[in-house]
Amino acid sequence: MNTLKNKNPVASWFDYDYFKEERKAIKALTVILRTAGCQWRKCTMCGFWQESADVTQADILDQLERSLRNSPEEDIILKIFTSGSFLDEREISSETRKEIAEMVRKRGRIRKFIVETRPEFVSAERIEDLNGVENLELAIGLETANDFFRSKYIKKGFSFDDYRKAAEIVIDSSATVKTYLLLKPPFVSEKKAIEDIIKSAELVSDYSSTISLNLCNIQKYTPLEALWRRGYYRPPWLWSAVEAIKEIKKRKIVVMSDPVGAGYKRGPHNCGKCDREITEAIKNFNITQDVRVLERLEENEMECECKDVWLALLKYDAFLFDSILEGT
Ligand code: SF4
Ligand SMILES: [Zn+2]
Repeated sequence: MNTLKNKNPVASWFDYDYFKEERKAIKALTVILRTAGCQWRKCTMCGFWQESADVTQADILDQLERSLRNSPEEDIILKIFTSGSFLDEREISSETRKEIAEMVRKRGRIRKFIVETRPEFVSAERIEDLNGVENLELAIGLETANDFFRSKYIKKGFSFDDYRKAAEIVIDSSATVKTYLLLKPPFVSEKKAIEDIIKSAELVSDYSSTISLNLCNIQKYTPLEALWRRGYYRPPWLWSAVEAIKEIKKRKIVVMSDPVGAGYKRGPHNCGKCDREITEAIKNFNITQDVRVLERLEENEMECECKDVWLALLKYDAFLFDSILEGT
């Protein structure tokens, strides 16, 4: 057992996040705690659980203490991720959750506290452990509202109904729900992926205070990586992300999208020439929620020629998949 490693989080960093409650961007501290990790470990695109370790509950508290120690004395959003589920007793015990809530209250000026969990761990009692923290938000990785895509292509292991029931418990406990949706699961064409995420956002918007669009990227040692290496998968185009964000934002909901790995082969990308500009626009949109920063990309002089390739890809989708033919 590596004791020193276990006392340090996997990672922690500051950036800015949109603080919906005050309609402005404020500093956000993200801490990835090293825990026993996700128990499920079957999602085809996920390698997060590889960061798990044999840690004690005291180690977990030390990790958080170290991350908070040098945080600036100002209002922040605190996001604690565990590469699994914060409400899973096998990762974080009820006692540890209560101590974490106490640390959050003591530090003060943590204006919003966000943790992630699978729906099966959500209960009023476990949420109660976090009593007294300001603006508690539980993030649930639904990925898509389509049960077929989620069970066959992502192997997520829970249904839309499981998500809905968990979201209702969260809302009844006076916390809010952030829903993660995945742009372009494996085996789904570019066009169907855009349609799916827009439809999914519509179906989760009644339960979610924020929708986070995760642009699929290729993590190491995952089934998705094996598909990608053989040429059977391409991460989503950034144009698809822009299209999805603009459409979903029409619903007046907070939409976030952290374009992890954007512009790289393993991440969402376009042609290489326009990736940086589009990634910056998406990041700018995240903290302003102003869709005009994305619309500006479409003004003629800024539009890259690769957009025509992307448009052709969408145009011929129906031919490629025979979905223009009636019946079977
Ligand atoms: S996506 Fe979430 S539930 Fe699925 S294996 Fe990764 S950490 Fe576990
Ligand atoms: Zn381009």
